[in-house]
Amino acid sequence: MFDAATQATVHQTSKTPSCAVSRCQSQWQSLESTLKKEFGDTAWRTWFRQVEPRQVENGILTLAVPTRFVRDWIKTHYADRIRSVWTQHLGSLNAVDIEVDATCVAKSVPVEEQVTPAPVSEKVSPPANQNAGFGDDTAIENYSSPLDPRFTFDNFVVGKPNELAHAAARRVAESDGSIPFNPLFLYGGVGLGKTHLMHAIAHQIRQSAPHRKVLYLSAEKFMYQFIRALRFKDTMSFKEQLRSVDVLMIDDVQFISGKESTQEEFFHTFNALIDQHKQVVISADKSPSDLDGMEERLRSRLGWGLVADLHPTTYELRLGILEAKRDMLKKDIPQDVLEFLAHRITSNVRELEGALHRIAAHADLIGRPVTVETTQDLLQDLLRANDRRVSVEDIQKKVAEHYNIRVTDMHSPRRARMVARPRQIAMYLSKVMTEHSLPEIGRKFGGRDHTTIMHGVRKIEELCKTDSALAEDIALLQRAIAG
Ligand code: ADP
Ligand code: MG
Repeated sequence: MFDAATQATVHQTSKTPSCAVSRCQSQWQSLESTLKKEFGDTAWRTWFRQVEPRQVENGILTLAVPTRFVRDWIKTHYADRIRSVWTQHLGSLNAVDIEVDATCVAKSVPVEEQVTPAPVSEKVSPPANQNAGFGDDTAIENYSSPLDPRFTFDNFVVGKPNELAHAAARRVAESDGSIPFNPLFLYGGVGLGKTHLMHAIAHQIRQSAPHRKVLYLSAEKFMYQFIRALRFKDTMSFKEQLRSVDVLMIDDVQFISGKESTQEEFFHTFNALIDQHKQVVISADKSPSDLDGMEERLRSRLGWGLVADLHPTTYELRLGILEAKRDMLKKDIPQDVLEFLAHRITSNVRELEGALHRIAAHADLIGRPVTVETTQDLLQDLLRANDRRVSVEDIQKKVAEHYNIRVTDMHSPRRARMVARPRQIAMYLSKVMTEHSLPEIGRKFGGRDHTTIMHGVRKIEELCKTDSALAEDIALLQRAIAG
């Protein structure tokens, strides 16, 4: 699920006039050091050395990258931040568009910094200290992907959509070595707190049980290490190293799907750890059964422990998060501004935070608290992107498709259960995913009264409490619609 403002295309590059390219290149270069600082050296080396800026046109920056994998990664993890850094320094940018162009690889990138496997080259010599990193306890920590110190349980706001995932993560973190469930599988859309919870587990264990070895790896780092081990014919020690930990966490495991050898390795490591009663925590953007490109036995084994879903945020949770962050920032941002943001920025927590930071920076600059009006001005682009996101019509269409009924049944008076239930689901989703009032929603459902809509919404809420398959189905739909 990507931000609507972050479009991506797979088409081959259309060559752009060279003056536009060079202008864009110099703009990009002027931001390089800021971006490097923002993302960190390692991430920069891993992902951005192969990026080529192509053009800026109509507020859209086009970048080219060599593979779909790199494109997807940058799109999910960095595009939005690139957009905001660009906007801050060079003026408004609406979107970052990423194309795949295999010629980008031609730039010389040191072999050990490439992410995609490359043929073994004779020039490559193994790193001098290739075994360093796992010899002792502290080394495990070196091997781990970096942990964000802000991602602690204390800083995590709990609400209905994330309470199960949060409780499960806490249980794992507080366990004294016994394994409550294995694996813990956390899943949910982008920016809903998966990484935050995983880092929180690691922080807590390192603090309260420092003798337990915790290894947190992004899936991309896992693959990178594995490919590197393959290249240096060192897979044995890689496996032993992985298997020597007490808690292994792999984030964004969907990025491993489709890469057979890495999957195979992952599967064996995973089995070995579970057999030895070591805790495994996995995150992904989909449930185990929906992970495309994963081998069946791996998928089914991933689902053996506890599968906890992070649902899209509710208004209450968004407001709670904003209040907590405002207190953390110690900024004087009025309550009605927070309420406005919680109403209007519904996509994900990352964007919500971004909006709050922009407002705080603005408040600092102008030296007085912001108002709803200045906020509207300041966040025009973000608000538009969020508005664009979901309409009642989109919801009706997706729900109708999902249940295999006609869109016109959303408006029709038919009461047969097979159309009435999906219709109620669409009403419920229209209520939680758009800003429309009940009467407005009623009008879009064939002129129904607002009490009918309210009844439908309540009905679905009730059913979800007891029918987990339905709740799951609706969460899935919600993600598909939001994506
Ligand atoms: P994901 O890994 O699911 O894509 P992240 O864990 O990176 O999402 O979360 C995105 C941002 O939102 C992070 O800055 C995180 O701290 C924040 N965030 C998400 N959920 C919450 C929450 N419940 N309370 C506080 N901050 C949150
Ligand atoms: Mg994440």
